[in-house]
Amino acid sequence: MEKAKISEVFYSIQGEGVYAGIKQVFVRFYGCNLGSCRFCDTRISSYKEYYAKDLLDEIVHFNDDYHSISITGGEPLVQKKFLKEFLLALKVIGKKVYLETNGTMPGALREIIDYVDIIAMDFKLPSATRLRDFWREHAEFLNIALAKEVFVKAVVTADTLEDDIKVMRDIIAEINPKVVLVLQPVTYINGAREPEAGKLARFQDACLDKLEAVEIIPQIHRLAGIR
Ligand code: SF4
Repeated sequence: MEKAKISEVFYSIQGEGVYAGIKQVFVRFYGCNLGSCRFCDTRISSYKEYYAKDLLDEIVHFNDDYHSISITGGEPLVQKKFLKEFLLALKVIGKKVYLETNGTMPGALREIIDYVDIIAMDFKLPSATRLRDFWREHAEFLNIALAKEVFVKAVVTADTLEDDIKVMRDIIAEINPKVVLVLQPVTYINGAREPEAGKLARFQDACLDKLEAVEIIPQIHRLAGIR
């Protein structure tokens, strides 16, 4: 049996993407394969180790009035062996699984996708993250994710380049132009500043040239002061 490193388990409101506002139980996995996006707001240094059964026991103590269980991080797919076991157990007790992922580990997604219902996939734009690009990984990931409900989310900062936005748009459009794209203006962190409203609107128009649904949605939990 595998053990996982879990940073926190809590009940709250989803703050990002097309499901913003719904109630969820969050299981935050420790660690990330990217490690240092400029705007990362989950650099948590502590964790507790769990077997799948113990994590399940903790989850069933929450009020059962939530929409789904958010598997988040960090990057949960880093701990794919544990995930396989844990997600299968969640399915057995009838829970809906919502995976939040940076969209860079297609091989790991392939191994666990059968146990996932909804995928919130990040698209990492190099001008915003200050990391290398992940175009190839994102394209492969999205192709696999289409087997389930999926939407794409890209964090946009004052430094985000239109060229990056257009590369992302073209990759998504070539795979499936019906996939919903969320442009999420960054909430100020680590010197990453919010984009101007005019720039966001320009990016949205550029994406709408090839995609059917492009929404601008800020992080509502940060606006509302919720965890
Ligand atoms: S992928 Fe997510 S968790 Fe990992 S460094 Fe980037 S923002 Fe942080």
